[in-house]
Amino acid sequence: MQLEFSPEEIAFQQEVRSFIAENYPKHLRSVQDEGHDLSKEDFLSWHRILAKKGWIAPAWPVEYGGTGWTATQRFIWSEELAAADCVGTMPFGLSMVGPVIYTFGTPEQKARFLPGILSGDDWWCQGYSEPGSGSDLASLRTKAVRDGDHYIVNGQKTWTTMAQHADWGFFLVRTDPDAKQQEGISFLLIDMKSPGVTVRPIITLGGEHEVNEVWLEDVRVPVENRVYEENKGWTCAKFLLAHERTGIAAVARSKRGVEKIKQIARTEMDGDKPLLANAFFKRKISELEIDLTALEFTELRSLAGEAAGKGPGPESSLLKIKGSEIQQRITELALEAVGHYGAPYFRGFGEGDNEHPIGPDYAHRAAPTYFNTRKTTIYGGSNEIQRNIIAKMVLGI
Ligand SMILES: Cc1cc2nc3c(=O)[nH]c(=O)nc-3n(C[C@H](O)[C@H](O)[C@H](O)COP(=O)(O)OP(=O)(O)OC[C@H]3O[C@@H](n4cnc5c(N)ncnc54)[C@H](O)[C@@H]3O)c2cc1C
Repeated sequence: MQLEFSPEEIAFQQEVRSFIAENYPKHLRSVQDEGHDLSKEDFLSWHRILAKKGWIAPAWPVEYGGTGWTATQRFIWSEELAAADCVGTMPFGLSMVGPVIYTFGTPEQKARFLPGILSGDDWWCQGYSEPGSGSDLASLRTKAVRDGDHYIVNGQKTWTTMAQHADWGFFLVRTDPDAKQQEGISFLLIDMKSPGVTVRPIITLGGEHEVNEVWLEDVRVPVENRVYEENKGWTCAKFLLAHERTGIAAVARSKRGVEKIKQIARTEMDGDKPLLANAFFKRKISELEIDLTALEFTELRSLAGEAAGKGPGPESSLLKIKGSEIQQRITELALEAVGHYGAPYFRGFGEGDNEHPIGPDYAHRAAPTYFNTRKTTIYGGSNEIQRNIIAKMVLGI
């Protein structure tokens, strides 16, 4: 396994670093530094710059708009994005439905949908989970009944991330109630402005509006918006879930997170000694760094396998479990590091106080981020489900 970068790869790293330094939107940097929530436009401002450069979809085949980078170049790219603390691009179009469409879609579907995903003109959401159908996704009950050249869709989806901004959604629906669970499902692309689609917010522990319920009542969807064959949507669903798990370890971003905590812990707060002088806290940081380094090597091993043409195997489950647990530990230590400034997070407190919470800027997002990050062990296939996969595929149980 070769873990050192070649001279060409180091030159590529420099090119990427300069591009980010010269092009990352300044207003976005200040929104992030001041700890404000990011709007749709904030996300799209960086997306559009990358789209213009042709770097928005590095993992896509070149013929559909990919960069043609090697797995190592893609790794360098994500490392540099994280090191520069750039906001992520939304995964629902680029990492989820895009690959499904260019793999299973018709030429017309590719021509209709891929350009909008790349440019950012179409914002997508994922309509898989339902109340009672999360881990056991194949039990989903939203149904689509054929009516000429349309489907009539009825049902409810839940936890639909960022659906409040979405132009389009990709939905799993039951088209054959009599078939075996996995065999009666189809994959539909639904215009979120269609009559009968209602998006209702779910406000999370951190006070954020990130997820939603989506209700579908007699929604008419043209049959041409079905990807792949009727009742074969499970094939698309599984393919997409494998893509969803790629990059879920977020090693580069976690490294940046640890650095941020160390920065905070080096600072004197309210005349107290820096927290990093406390041996107990220092030990927690060291343990985190050791685990993160081990995770990084697992990711590099997986990358070396990918470069040698091996698809992601059960190690993607290992990466998901350890990566998500580390992300949570980082937010726990961040909250500890900011001390009492992390306690009130001011969302909705007092008239006009929201803009000027007390304490240093970096403290203001510690609590909401801590609460928000509880999700990482649940979404993308919960960690218990990942353990089941490892038990089956690695341990043979
Ligand atoms: C913040 C957030 C964003 C999300 N965004 C989206 C989205 O955009 N689109 C979408 O479709 N979905 C989304 N989801 C849903 C997510 O995929 C589900 O929450 C997840 O699959 C778990 O399903 P569930 O919530 O129904 O929990 P359940 O499946 O009911 O599980 C409850 C608990 O039981 C455990 N469990 C279940 N089955 C087993 C088993 N066989 N063995 C051992 N333990 C088990 C689980 O691990 C969990 O701890 C999101 C979830 C969150 C939290």
